[in-house]
Amino acid sequence: MSVNKFFIEKLLYPAMEWKKGNRIRVYLQEMEQTQYAAPEVLRALRAARLKTLLHACAAGVPAYQSLGISDAAIERDPWAVLRTIPILKKSAFQAQPQRYLNTRYDRSRLIANVTGGSTGEPVRFFMDRYTVEHYEAARWRGLSWWDITPGSRSVMIWGNPIELSQDKQRAARWKDRFLKNRMILSAYDLTEQDVARYIRFLNRYQPEYLYGYASALSTFADLLAPFADALRLRHLKAVVSTSETLYDHQRQRLQDVFGSPVLNEYGARDAGILGYECPCGHLHLSAENCILEVVDPVTFEPVPPGQSGLVVTTDLNNLAMPRLRYLLGDTATLSPETGCPCGVTLPVIRSLDGREDAIFQLPDGKLVHGNFVNQLSRKYDSFRQFQLVQTSIDRAELRLVLCEQSRPEEIDAFRQDVAGFLPGVEVRAVVVPRIEPGKSGKFRYSIRQFDLHA
Ligand SMILES: [Zn+2]
Repeated sequence: MSVNKFFIEKLLYPAMEWKKGNRIRVYLQEMEQTQYAAPEVLRALRAARLKTLLHACAAGVPAYQSLGISDAAIERDPWAVLRTIPILKKSAFQAQPQRYLNTRYDRSRLIANVTGGSTGEPVRFFMDRYTVEHYEAARWRGLSWWDITPGSRSVMIWGNPIELSQDKQRAARWKDRFLKNRMILSAYDLTEQDVARYIRFLNRYQPEYLYGYASALSTFADLLAPFADALRLRHLKAVVSTSETLYDHQRQRLQDVFGSPVLNEYGARDAGILGYECPCGHLHLSAENCILEVVDPVTFEPVPPGQSGLVVTTDLNNLAMPRLRYLLGDTATLSPETGCPCGVTLPVIRSLDGREDAIFQLPDGKLVHGNFVNQLSRKYDSFRQFQLVQTSIDRAELRLVLCEQSRPEEIDAFRQDVAGFLPGVEVRAVVVPRIEPGKSGKFRYSIRQFDLHA
């Protein structure tokens, strides 16, 4: 065990628990038990938490008090009560956030947070320490399946320059390096010289895992690929991809370049760590912390497992500012199967299907998932970056950044390929110097810029 890892796990964490009342380790131990619970035991635990949440909403949260939920109904069947609560859109929450604050909750214990705003306006919301520490515990529980612990050395591959002052950057770097055993590297604007330097750094630093957005990780892997033979990552246990769709070809590329398993973390700033992939390849839901439903994109009615739809989450721990059945903006498919060879009994998310606004709509009302653009792009080698934006129901723009040795005929070929998937939509190709990731550092391959029509 490295000195730093020893320091973090044997001294820093216990000291934080003792001095600040940090309980991440306690929650982690609990979750390492409940991950193996029989389905009926897990259901009872979630029902108990749901009851507490619904009682708090009925008693002190103006947005829910007006629904007239009775305590007797909650006690009888909290699941049935939950299903009667209307789906909460981000826009509705943002219009009146104060109505979701629990008036009976001690305001001094609120922790403010804000989403990155990769699409639309950032969302401001509050949670409390209990909630945050359960998110952290869910992350460490998922990583424990890969033999990664809180002191494990990591490298975070970031998508955009971090917007901090020089002083703050230095402090953040110090804190990262010594308190989190983590270094941060940028995936963009690298020169070939930087690549050689990064490889030397990785070989010297010997991280136990790499962590980053799928797009940043794969950009990094693409750059390193020609020199991958020089990589000597003896302790690398996993590459952890978070927050964006991880495409199969990206996963393969990461595996090839770094020579370790690649896994998906499903998390959102305003919903916590929702799921983690186990070594059997199943994305297990953090079921102790949240209820995740999948609903139809137009009617908002729940769809059966196996069918893709919009993700709706209910955070079971956040009593400070509860958001019930909150529409996260993601699409996913739940698995009808239960049980996993890894022994974890938590429900399984079969697939993450991308952002809600990555679904295109045709003039006849049909929906087409934007993932096809990524698949198509693999036929061509003329494009460094691409992005398909549907600006209106009958128009779309294919933005392309060309490689140095690009073939001009591929522009129209790609455009025609794309148009074939979007009958009735006029697709225009536009060559641009570069496509920036969103403010949050996330990169979008497909975006729809209008609301879905019923
Ligand atoms: Zn599993």
